[in-house]
Amino acid sequence: MVYDNYKNFLSILFFLFFSTANVQMSVQATTILIDPGHGGDDLGAVSSFMEREKDTQKDNQNSKKLGRVYYIEKELALEFAKKIYKELEKKYSVYMTRSFDNTISLDERAQMAEKVKADLFLSIHMNSSAKSSSQGFEIYYLDNHNDVAVRKVENVENRRISGSGSGGDIVNDSAFTDPIVHKILIDLIVERTVISSRKLAFEIHDELKSKISYKYNFKDRKVLAGVFYVLALSKCPAVLLEVGFISNHNEAMKLKGENFQKEYAKAVASAIDRYLKIADSGKLGFVSNQ
Ligand SMILES: [Zn+2]
Repeated sequence: MVYDNYKNFLSILFFLFFSTANVQMSVQATTILIDPGHGGDDLGAVSSFMEREKDTQKDNQNSKKLGRVYYIEKELALEFAKKIYKELEKKYSVYMTRSFDNTISLDERAQMAEKVKADLFLSIHMNSSAKSSSQGFEIYYLDNHNDVAVRKVENVENRRISGSGSGGDIVNDSAFTDPIVHKILIDLIVERTVISSRKLAFEIHDELKSKISYKYNFKDRKVLAGVFYVLALSKCPAVLLEVGFISNHNEAMKLKGENFQKEYAKAVASAIDRYLKIADSGKLGFVSNQ
């Protein structure tokens, strides 16, 4: 009798172990698509500053020449995306919309989200402003809003909706150019994804605030709602990260830093871990399109 109870106990343990394993399995099966903004003939934002050359010859400090250094959004976006990829691939199935410098339209990026059956979509960008003092990080999720400042960012990031350099016909996003259809489509996608996307945005925000903001004197410009086609077209919980301002010289140099990039990527990855734990517990109510 005691033996039977022991056997039951063991089988319950066995069951618990494997049901836990299943939960972990479903987290591991999560597919994340990272989208480095712009690329190829679409440079994104560009800034340049006069800087002293890096000191390679320590014996001759005075030989460091002043030269113009360029900061290009498409290049920095790819650097950050690769760092985030490296962090996430340890646990999840991760893809990138581009892993080198090629031209790719917003529509093609979204098609990739469908192809790989992305559960999460992260679009990576660098911010820019005519005001050189503008600085800090922003995190956008898809939702309607009445914010004039956000509209400026949207205009920049939505420019290449059909701008494939290959000259190919863009069919899928033509619906988005009709204002009425566009509004209905956006509303439908917002309805399906907004709770998850907003939660993901806030998790990333909180992590960046606690791990990066103070250490690097990096301004918190908060979580914002925006209508970004690439987020809408991806049709899954998605955020657009404006990592920082390359129009601000101090910030541009910060963004180029290897350690800064790594720590930013780590913060994003641990925010995604936290988000997925919440999503996996069913508390967000998002119904996957798969
Ligand atoms: Zn951009």
